[in-house]
Amino acid sequence: MIMSKISESIRTIPNFPQKGIMFRDVTTLFSNPSTFKETIIQICSYWKHKNVTKIIGIEARGFIIGSCVSLELELPFIPVRKKGKLPFTTIEQSYKLEYGEATAEIHSDALNQNDNVLIIDDLIATGGTALAAISLVKKLDASISGCSFIIDLPDLNGKKKILDLGIEVQTLCEFSGH
Ligand code: AMP
Repeated sequence: MIMSKISESIRTIPNFPQKGIMFRDVTTLFSNPSTFKETIIQICSYWKHKNVTKIIGIEARGFIIGSCVSLELELPFIPVRKKGKLPFTTIEQSYKLEYGEATAEIHSDALNQNDNVLIIDDLIATGGTALAAISLVKKLDASISGCSFIIDLPDLNGKKKILDLGIEVQTLCEFSGH
């Protein structure tokens, strides 16, 4: 029931930002307080007994979801950002986009070997962005408790790539296609 409430609250914009992409717009979920709250409750209840020590949010929509989860679970929030945005010393990881390449960064002192993180974003498609975040966590010798996304695009196989690494993945709804 809640799953259909979540998927119904997400708006689809065809051909944004380019032709052929069905953009799954979570701003309509964020603007519905009861569905947004239910979404955060679903994520927190799934992860609360899994020994997570820090929440990683991926820029930009992962910041919105991740910061709510971090406050609810009373855990530190750590941002993963596009290259050039974080002010302190960083480490970086490049990854492939549908067209071209991007680089993600994390502060070099954000995690250590005692950490077990939950990585959060709004949507997983090819998995490139989440896999870059996973690499950054591993480079800082921290462990990964799992990843959580509101939306899975199963036709693009990203969730499977993460599961194949032995990492747990929570998704709350799915849409077919790109
Ligand atoms: P990927 O790296 O291919 O898994 O793409 C995931 C990232 O791109 C996430 O940060 C999403 O917010 C964004 N993204 C990719 N495809 C879509 C889509 N169809 N609708 C909305 N956001 C998308």
